[in-house]
Amino acid sequence: MNFTATQASTLDNERETLMNRVDLDVRMVSAIAGDRAMNAREQHILERVMNERGEGIYSDILYALTHRSFPARQAKHLWDEIGAHRIAMKSALGRDVGIPVATHDYLTNIANLMKSVTVIEESKIASLTNVATRDGLTGLFDQATFKYRLKEELERQVRHGGALSLLMFDLDRFKNLNDNHGHAEGDRVLKGVADVIRSQVRMLDVAARYGGEEFAIILPTVDTAGALLFANRLREAIFKAFETEEYTVSMSGGICTNLETDDKSADELIKTADKGLYKAKEAGRNRIEMAE
Ligand code: GH3
Ligand code: MG
Ligand code: MG
Repeated sequence: MNFTATQASTLDNERETLMNRVDLDVRMVSAIAGDRAMNAREQHILERVMNERGEGIYSDILYALTHRSFPARQAKHLWDEIGAHRIAMKSALGRDVGIPVATHDYLTNIANLMKSVTVIEESKIASLTNVATRDGLTGLFDQATFKYRLKEELERQVRHGGALSLLMFDLDRFKNLNDNHGHAEGDRVLKGVADVIRSQVRMLDVAARYGGEEFAIILPTVDTAGALLFANRLREAIFKAFETEEYTVSMSGGICTNLETDDKSADELIKTADKGLYKAKEAGRNRIEMAE
């Protein structure tokens, strides 16, 4: 395959997107709040994030502190209020409680924006949120993890803007393949399909085995045109991967996009992508469709 200028610039965009995803952590936020000095490297990171994110940085700050997504304008207002609340707490208590405690007290007891708050160390949060369950046969995420990640990615979309697409697809006439070549061969095909998926997705994408021979892929930052392109490329790659077998493997898929201006829920996205999938089956299989 020739590496074109368009592909190079797509890669650049992807790299930039990845950099943008460097989420702030509590240590960094404490430094921003003036609780501790920043080293040169941190200062450099902060400058870059501020340039790129503008007011969005307040969403990032509050996300680091609460793991909740607030739109930029509300986040900026809350950040100012939290700063004032911290000073009030200091004069009432005679000691500085620090930015994380001031934030939690403000959001829980003053603004009533959080409830059932638990205290948990950031390193523990990080390891907990990394516990993703994978499907034993294919090594892809399982359905529960996929649903959790879809909600997480939709929240990230609130903070970072841009589009997000979902592809759901199902292998065609898979029952025939099992019947004619045995269940073990069917399993081998499922593993092979997962390998093709892994070779096609970007680092940002989230690929899952949704059920039996049905798969789902979250495509953050991707609009409808990009999702169609990706889905058809994947469809062709899967077809090609089994070209030399005595059987053919094809898939039918549906895509759905949540635009920056949309507010679709995870369930709505899944339902709509699934409608597209059904449409693709109805239209004769081995194709990608979109529900109206
Ligand atoms: P369609 O094109 O309409 O999707 O036809 P289909 O035959 O693929 O659809 P159907 O849902 O009727 O059958 C799905 C088949 O997938 C039936 C089931 O035995 C098979 N299957 C589901 N999970 C597994 C698995 O883990 N291993 C194997 N080998 N087969 C599986
Ligand atoms: Mg099927
Ligand atoms: Mg099926």
